[in-house]
Amino acid sequence: MWISNEQFLGDLGMGAMHLEQGGYTMHSKSFAESIFAERDIRWIVGAHVKQVEAGKVEYELLDSTFHEQSFDFAMLIPPFAGQEMKAFDASGEDITSTIFAPSGYMKVDADYTPKPYAEWSADDWPKKLQNPTYSNMFAVGIAFAPPHQISQPRKSPNDTLITPAPPRTGMPSATMARAVAENIVDMINGVSDTPTRTASMAQMGAACIASTGKDFFTGTAAAMTVYPVVPDYAKFPDTGRDQSLTSGEVGLGAQWIKHTLHHLFIYKAKLKPFWSVIPE
Ligand SMILES: Cc1cc2nc3c(=O)[nH]c(=O)nc-3n(C[C@H](O)[C@H](O)[C@H](O)COP(=O)(O)OP(=O)(O)OC[C@H]3O[C@@H](n4cnc5c(N)ncnc54)[C@H](O)[C@@H]3O)c2cc1C
Repeated sequence: MWISNEQFLGDLGMGAMHLEQGGYTMHSKSFAESIFAERDIRWIVGAHVKQVEAGKVEYELLDSTFHEQSFDFAMLIPPFAGQEMKAFDASGEDITSTIFAPSGYMKVDADYTPKPYAEWSADDWPKKLQNPTYSNMFAVGIAFAPPHQISQPRKSPNDTLITPAPPRTGMPSATMARAVAENIVDMINGVSDTPTRTASMAQMGAACIASTGKDFFTGTAAAMTVYPVVPDYAKFPDTGRDQSLTSGEVGLGAQWIKHTLHHLFIYKAKLKPFWSVIPE
């Protein structure tokens, strides 16, 4: 049983996707539901987990009804949240709200002006990942404060926010980290006073391969690519994404790629010879 705060399966915190697959376009809802149905996994969506006790989880649905699900074995992925850090300036004044958003993430060069969902734009997303007040502070990956969700936020009549957070998976996190690290090197070496490379999630793609059966000959994996991660309806009015770079496929080949990436990732993390040429 899969319990998720997504409004529908396949939203993935990215407001869903239209995936190119063998010459056809498939909505990520159909893609995800088919994978789950084939593996006999049932799902409950639009759900906010309120409480977990031994053998029992309690959740609220978007219509504010409360339900329970019993389990023998469960895994809970907690909601994204920043570290509970306080910040002080040289005189000891508390500058936590200058550095961090209420969620605990660091504020960077995003447009945090509160706006209705219909006015959200790809341009709201940060490009340099630099704190606007302190130019020597940067945050990448999970650590930066997104300007808003990617999926349309939904609340139950009880005012409980039931919506997935923007995913910041490995590949975008590493792409941001590389751009910011190279910018910091340039700033330290006096090459530039300001960051010259950008890494906006609205201008980068991501690839994700999820194992759906681990066997070298009979296994499968779901491979997905998306460009850009944050939809840009100004550039791509139909779906918000470049359809030639947004795809989904399930198969044995993807399982081999997953296996290969696993070893490449560990190799790179150990900084073995030529690690830096392995892409994020
Ligand atoms: C269950 C799960 C499965 C995932 N699977 C995939 C996948 O298949 N593919 C994929 O691309 N991504 C996957 N991800 C996402 C991926 O792990 C993250 O996107 C990525 O790790 C984010 O990198 P980061 O550097 O921003 O944060 P992290 O990797 O979380 O690094 C933050 C680091 O900061 C340290 N830290 C925290 N607080 C302090 C402190 N006060 N002082 C010092 N250090 C501190 C932490 O210990 C941690 O090492 C998965 C995530 C989860 C939870």
